[in-house]
Amino acid sequence: MIHYSRQWVDEKDKQAVWEVLGADLLTQGPKVAEFERAVAQYCGAEFGVATNSATSALHLACLALDVKPGDWVWTSPNTFLASSNCALYCGAQVDFVDICPKTYNLSVAALEKKLVEAKRAGRLPKVIVLVHFAGQPCELKAIHALSQQYGFYIIEDAAHAIGSRYEDTLIGCGRYSHITTFSFHAVKTMTTAEGGMAVTNDPALYHAMKRFSSHGVTREEHCMTEASHGPWYYQMLALGYNYRLTELQAALGLNQLHKLNDFVMKRKAIAERYTDAFQALPLILPHQENNIRSSWHLYVVCLTEHASSDRKTMFMRLREAGIGVNVHYIPVHTQPYYQRLGFKWGDFPVAEAYYQQCISLPIHYGLSEAQQDYVVNTVKQVLE
Ligand SMILES: *Cc1c(COP(=O)(O)O)cnc(C)c1O
Repeated sequence: MIHYSRQWVDEKDKQAVWEVLGADLLTQGPKVAEFERAVAQYCGAEFGVATNSATSALHLACLALDVKPGDWVWTSPNTFLASSNCALYCGAQVDFVDICPKTYNLSVAALEKKLVEAKRAGRLPKVIVLVHFAGQPCELKAIHALSQQYGFYIIEDAAHAIGSRYEDTLIGCGRYSHITTFSFHAVKTMTTAEGGMAVTNDPALYHAMKRFSSHGVTREEHCMTEASHGPWYYQMLALGYNYRLTELQAALGLNQLHKLNDFVMKRKAIAERYTDAFQALPLILPHQENNIRSSWHLYVVCLTEHASSDRKTMFMRLREAGIGVNVHYIPVHTQPYYQRLGFKWGDFPVAEAYYQQCISLPIHYGLSEAQQDYVVNTVKQVLE
């Protein structure tokens, strides 16, 4: 089976993990700190907090921004569940903003309209979680301007977008947001098996996330409410979690980070190849804004109404041919859990229409030229 995405682990990665296995510390050691610094430095942020998943990082981001019952958090319906679940974990209410039919990212026009209505109704969001879908950055400048006008925080869910550029900066630099979260799950652009990171330029948010990631505990005396009892003493200042990354994972992540630019360039080359090869087919190919560089986490095509096949048939035929296509995403608000919160089919029609037609084709570093040819030829066969 040719997977839609897959990790690339080489001998150096294996060696790095193997070495850590023999080290003093398997968790909370120097590799985690080094990995945090390296990722923050890579994307141009001040601080990084490594986590055991991006879901944890998103939860930490919400906790650090004091998301709580009574608050609203908005995001895109075209995302993985974690982008909105993180707000539910904090007892907040979630709402969605429909997507742009070209980029499949949260629509700025829809956002503006919804903000006007929310202001009138007195229920403006505290936080908006922006998802850089498939690696294409959202319109950060425009949304940042709205955040100034309406007073909300911005979390960038950059699970797809490590290595993506917006104008002259890398995603994660925080010019237009408060916190950015990355995923290092095995299908993402670089991996620690499971893992994630939150990056920020704000020392207060950094310290809050760090503390929440490890039981809400501090060992720093100046943070304590009374004099330390001795070198063993720690204080729990808030209800935190164990969201920590291990040294093994950090060692893998550090090595993967060296390869990130190669990973992104290879994905870009495959995307360009597909785009050239599919010009004549009844497909809507990925649109790219001109002030961005995508990391190409996904290559999504949508069937047009002229296609002889429907999405499900095309999906089944490609799977039968050994091509592990996928669908990103089932709109979050249509999930039974979200329907029980009051959402229904029809609430976000652009995301729903997109979902009916979309299909993600294989794109990853290890995809050989022969496999790319096979994907191209099979897609052509299916649609002819
Ligand atoms: C993968 C993904 C997540 C969750 O990442 P994990 O590391 O698996 O927790 C969150 N948001 C988006 C958009 C994702 O694709």
